[in-house]
Amino acid sequence: MGKDKKFVQEITDMEKDFPQWYTDVVKKAELIDYSSVRGCMILQPYGYAIWELIQSQLDKRFKETGHKNVYMPMFIPESLLQREKDHVEGFAPEVAWVTHGGSEKLTERLCVRPTSETLFCEHYANVIQSYRDLPKLYNQWCSVVRWEKTTRPFLRTLEFLWQEGHTAHATAEEAQEETIKMLNVYAEFCENILAIPVVKGKKTDKEKFAGAQATYTIESLMHDGKALQSGTSHNFGDGFAKAFGIQYTDKNNELKYVHQTSWGMTTRLIGAVIMVHGDNSGLVLPPRIAPTQLIIIPIAAHKEGVLEKARELKDRLSSIVRVDLDDSDKMPGWKFSEYEMKGVPFRLEIGPKDIENNQVVLVRRDTREKIVVSMDELETKIPELMDTLQKDLLEKARAMRDAKTYVATNFEEFKTIVANTPGFIKAMWCGDEECENKIKEETGATSRCIPFEQEKVADTCVCCGKPAKDMLYWGKAY
Ligand code: AMP
Ligand code: ZN
Repeated sequence: MGKDKKFVQEITDMEKDFPQWYTDVVKKAELIDYSSVRGCMILQPYGYAIWELIQSQLDKRFKETGHKNVYMPMFIPESLLQREKDHVEGFAPEVAWVTHGGSEKLTERLCVRPTSETLFCEHYANVIQSYRDLPKLYNQWCSVVRWEKTTRPFLRTLEFLWQEGHTAHATAEEAQEETIKMLNVYAEFCENILAIPVVKGKKTDKEKFAGAQATYTIESLMHDGKALQSGTSHNFGDGFAKAFGIQYTDKNNELKYVHQTSWGMTTRLIGAVIMVHGDNSGLVLPPRIAPTQLIIIPIAAHKEGVLEKARELKDRLSSIVRVDLDDSDKMPGWKFSEYEMKGVPFRLEIGPKDIENNQVVLVRRDTREKIVVSMDELETKIPELMDTLQKDLLEKARAMRDAKTYVATNFEEFKTIVANTPGFIKAMWCGDEECENKIKEETGATSRCIPFEQEKVADTCVCCGKPAKDMLYWGKAY
């Protein structure tokens, strides 16, 4: 036991220094390694396996909603990027440029895609002619580059993996429906797969995507009370269509502009999982995204029959869970700590006594609860226990989020909450950007969203005291 403790203490206490705890976990759980380029990360096998599970389960949802995957080039000619004014203005400060091919200077600079709206638009202008060509429901899995000033593994990197959905529709109504549909897909995915509760809402004009008519977001709350924008869905109206000339002839042979959307989620989600579920022993993974859901650890492995039984169990269980066996010569206590660090949802201990009693001991990663299960009931009990853990993680995260959600009715209250108890703050807003700016300047909190579920927590704006329009979620954010 003494030895296990020591291993665990190697990570910083999350209550003492949360950013350091986070850095310790991403390294010690072997999710990433740093690269020689500032702000870029190397996804190690364990980190990449989590991404693959996120990717496959999201991709399934995209296909179920009628989307098809495509692949665009990674370069955008400068002239193409500049077609839509707001878009280029928004992204220009973060764009990386290719100026040379070999030693030859290019006649036109190429930008490394920070997002691919312009490429999709150019393509859509070519392939959309008639109402029969609509809707176009495309998605792309790729990496994009944004030259961020401050970076942190997963949460904000220069290059990140993501998916970007890009759709074109005949009407404004259809585009709006799509924008909200995909936001709902994101929210459902976060809650059911990542076990992270989210607040759904609309961004203020100040916070919306460059070139969008409206941006919708899902916002989640981390253990340290900071907010994280976890996914966004944009309605472009016909702004891009006009800039790129994407027109179709309708049934009456009239020429119309299409209405477009885009939506994206990234490797940032892995950061969210770490910061919502993790604890002082390391990562805690929801079973649905755990590369290994069950790790078998033989106890007194040198005793006759133990290793054989452990191997037999691995084979037997491999059709119902993602299972692994650690039959290395490390002490069991070390193995316990190692798989706790990696957030494996359950460990299965099997020793001579267990074999004698026809049982195994299962230990839950999150609560450390020990559950003795008969060898005959594993096939029914293990999936049940996985589901329970998955649900409990969501409920625990929801309780944490709710406990860290506050209400402010005036500016003094608002400032006190931001300074002393980080979390979401629900407060009324007059709709004036000046108040939004003032709140950000004086407290560091930003508007997270105008939630779909509105509550009237006061009559007046939390900042200026004038009549309020909407209730907003505010908070310091990653
Ligand atoms: P956007 O295209 O700006 O709407 O971004 C889509 C999503 O990507 C956002 O909602 C964020 O969750 C995420 N995101 C934005 N910037 C980064 C970054 N530098 N690293 C990782 N994820 C990011
Ligand atoms: Zn105001």
